[in-house]
Amino acid sequence: MAPHAADTAISPVLPTYARADVSFERGEGAWLIAKSGDRYLDFGAGVAVNALGHAHPKLVEALTQQAHKVWHVSNLYQVEGQTALAEKLISLTFADTVFFANSGAEALEASIKMARKYHAVSGHPERYELITFEGAFHGRTLATIAAGGQDKYLDGFGPVTPGFVQVPLNDLAAVSAAITDNTAGFLIEPIQGEGGICEATKDFMQALRSLADEHGLLLVLDEVQSGVGRTGHLYAYQDVGIEPDIMASAKGIGGGFPLGACLATAEAAKGMTPGTHGSTYGGNPLAVAVGGAVIDEVAQPEFLEHVRRVSGRLSQGLSMLADEYPDVIESVRGRGLMLGLKCKRPNAELQQAFMDKGLLTVAAGDNVVRLLPPLIISEDEAMDAVARIEAVCAELSPKGANDPKEVSAS
Ligand SMILES: *Cc1c(COP(=O)(O)O)cnc(C)c1O
Repeated sequence: MAPHAADTAISPVLPTYARADVSFERGEGAWLIAKSGDRYLDFGAGVAVNALGHAHPKLVEALTQQAHKVWHVSNLYQVEGQTALAEKLISLTFADTVFFANSGAEALEASIKMARKYHAVSGHPERYELITFEGAFHGRTLATIAAGGQDKYLDGFGPVTPGFVQVPLNDLAAVSAAITDNTAGFLIEPIQGEGGICEATKDFMQALRSLADEHGLLLVLDEVQSGVGRTGHLYAYQDVGIEPDIMASAKGIGGGFPLGACLATAEAAKGMTPGTHGSTYGGNPLAVAVGGAVIDEVAQPEFLEHVRRVSGRLSQGLSMLADEYPDVIESVRGRGLMLGLKCKRPNAELQQAFMDKGLLTVAAGDNVVRLLPPLIISEDEAMDAVARIEAVCAELSPKGANDPKEVSAS
């Protein structure tokens, strides 16, 4: 039987996503406007992508200016926008060099390959194994699902790509015990995003750095979600007092245009010589033009200060709701504008209820709803979100279960 004769009930777009029944026509700042005309306060930001919100004038200008010049040239040639963006990133971080990709998973692939190559050219090709952490998410390629180690993403996709061992987060003894002659280094998200806004403690991150130095291993950070101002620092590691050897960045760095980057020290990158890695689209002129405009904006001290200030108000408001409605919200987690509500009810139910009140959020592991608003939100918009969340809590909270504060909460 011809393949197309078997079952034509499949949707035209491969049904790998559980999509909500809404489609957005345009965006303005922190707001998305549906085809129906309904306005939604966007506290998902395309999963931490729209760092500057929707239709930011500076990004529109950067993209259209470049679009009038040249869209794509091969990496067979010089791409000035890549050099400019790389120099910005180098001046603002630990890095000496940058590889550009199109997505988070590709930034991770480059990071993983670089870590292996470093040891290979250092005379230790047997050091190809990265120690990763339970609850991690590093992408959906064959290597990155192996790195993430989650059965739900690995199931049915054949042999698991070798080279990854997993230990519990914040368990230093388990990390030490897992180090063998095959270890290349550690791969960690400073704050797990998909895993449910689970933070690696500062002590743990510092201890990983020390262990890496002691054993000649590499510290590889996945800041695809936590980077580009999300935590109130350009990168989350900058608040921890350590520096990585290699770091993957994506999501927010393109502000909505597909862009990823693998940042590294010269030492860690020493094996990545011409021909060892590449990407047709990686560092495309349109992408790096937008990326440059994003970094110019986000890296300003006042911008990061704004993120920390709004975060303070938002987390304070959310913590009050957790106190008032403990039967709906168990606790508030995270840093900056990478916050999570640990739910007492199923997180999917809460996410839907928030959406019904015009607030977009993103579910995560560990029964958490993530709040990942554009970094440009105002304090009023933060309080608007708190009010919408409160309205849901009040509806879901069993009558009479609250303390007397409920009366005055109006
Ligand atoms: C989203 C994400 C990725 C994968 O990024 P894609 O662009 O979807 O490939 C990797 N790591 C982390 C921490 C992420 O949040």
